[in-house]
Amino acid sequence: MSFSAAILTNGPDQTQEVGRVIGEQARPGDILLLTGPLGAGKTCLTQGIASGLGVSGYVRSPTFVLTTRYQGRLTLHHMDLYRIGGPEEAWDLGMDEQLFGGGICIVEWAERAAEIFPPESMWTELDHVDSGDQRSISFIEWPDRYRAVLEQLSADYPSPQTSDEVKP
Ligand code: ADP
Ligand code: MG
Repeated sequence: MSFSAAILTNGPDQTQEVGRVIGEQARPGDILLLTGPLGAGKTCLTQGIASGLGVSGYVRSPTFVLTTRYQGRLTLHHMDLYRIGGPEEAWDLGMDEQLFGGGICIVEWAERAAEIFPPESMWTELDHVDSGDQRSISFIEWPDRYRAVLEQLSADYPSPQTSDEVKP
């Protein structure tokens, strides 16, 4: 069983707060795959997840180093595949340890190596909504153990559809 939900946030603080709630629920082996254009908020969401995992210190986009490791109540591997040439290059980053080592793995630009991730991975699509500070966050077919969390987030934040409806 899986569950999908989509919400809107109104600024980086809200996106981080959403991440924190998810990070508090994260379990060993969770793989969060983040997609969406530059500036959509992938790193921002990751910062929140890290804080929910109890990581102290600043989480940066690993665009140049490709993968960074943090320690919270679980190990967090944060990867950014923006610069990889193809899926086979992703394995050179030590994916085995990062995906199956018992920690949490968050991957920005995961669509660049989509086929290497196990089917139970959690795809999450972020996007700009307009030219301002609004972002949509879509949780696509997350495992059922996240249903309560995602339902709560859906209750706390507007949905992209609702927002469209209220537009003049
Ligand atoms: P990405 O990793 O997807 O390229 P970042 O998280 O690095 O994006 O950057 C998102 C940028 O957008 C930051 O400068 C952040 O302050 C800004 N921003 C504005 N509104 C939001 C929002 N609702 N959620 C996340 N970031 C936002
Ligand atoms: Mg980023």
